[in-house]
Amino acid sequence: MTDTMKAAVFEGHERIVLEERPVPQCGPNDAIVKVTLTTICGTDVHIWREEYPVEQGRIVGHEPVGVIHELGVAVSGYEVGDRVLVGAITPCGSCFYCQNHSEAQCSGHEDEWKMIGAWRLGNAIDGVQAEYFRVPYAQANLAKIPDDLSDEQCVLLADIASTGISATETANVGLGQSVAVFAQGPIGLCATAGARLKGASLIIGVDSIGKRLSIAREMGADEVIDFTQEDPVAAIKRLTEGRGVDVAIEALGKQQTFEWCLDATRPGGTVSSLGVYGGKLEVPLESFVYGIGDKKILTTLCPGGKERMRKLMELVRHGRLNLGPLITHRFSLDQIEDAYELFGNQRDGVVKVALTP
Ligand SMILES: [Zn+2]
Ligand SMILES: [Zn+2]
Repeated sequence: MTDTMKAAVFEGHERIVLEERPVPQCGPNDAIVKVTLTTICGTDVHIWREEYPVEQGRIVGHEPVGVIHELGVAVSGYEVGDRVLVGAITPCGSCFYCQNHSEAQCSGHEDEWKMIGAWRLGNAIDGVQAEYFRVPYAQANLAKIPDDLSDEQCVLLADIASTGISATETANVGLGQSVAVFAQGPIGLCATAGARLKGASLIIGVDSIGKRLSIAREMGADEVIDFTQEDPVAAIKRLTEGRGVDVAIEALGKQQTFEWCLDATRPGGTVSSLGVYGGKLEVPLESFVYGIGDKKILTTLCPGGKERMRKLMELVRHGRLNLGPLITHRFSLDQIEDAYELFGNQRDGVVKVALTP
């Protein structure tokens, strides 16, 4: 057994490079997982571009599947060798937030006060784009993968599926409702899939990239709108008898898409926001109907924890969710710089990049 490993480390502007690091140590409540497959996230690209701050020297990545390599003495019910999925968000299960049903905001521990939400891996602590990583609060976060599911079928559940689908859950999309999803990147595509799972009758996908709009149809969109060809708000009004949709999902994090969501939502409807916003976000008075249109604005951070991951895996296992079309490119961990260059610059029709250590 070696005691060093290869890891993708953030080292400054557009520099995520392969380094040799010690294999992480396993504390009593931890597990060490040997990574078998991971993916690059849009959030990692924000780190790569220095648009989201993490410490230099941090191992990045938060979307892992792997095999348990070592277990802390306080963790029970698992064995070394078990295949596991670990969510991007790793709640502790016992703090104020976890006990108040805000697991994604779990950050009540005194050494973690600077953290936003419970996003630890590849942010507050070392991440998963490596040969091994440490799972904190392992008892709450190791989800065993059923034998009949492959790594590729599970890896996108860790973050983008959990996040994307959560927009429809937070908005409480009802049977027969209409839903528009603004931006059909990986998270928007999962939100589109979520709208179908929740029983929406009309699902509208908005983007400008033809390939993404065609995957949107596979994920469940009935109508797709290329916003460079037509005004998406006018098109949505036309499709909804002039009212607007019951729920508009913001899956990009830009002022324009946020405004479109407000404008495309019917009076009394809901804007369900997933985007991570940069710069400034304004709520235009007219779009918000001066505060008397009863429009609700809700946000959700990726739900994590093993029970969330179990449920998502069951959806895949029973044929209700298939994210296969989203993995468009595959690299080895050794090719990490090429992988970031391609994904960061959105070349070659990329949707999601998988990495194999
Ligand atoms: Zn992610
Ligand atoms: Zn907690």
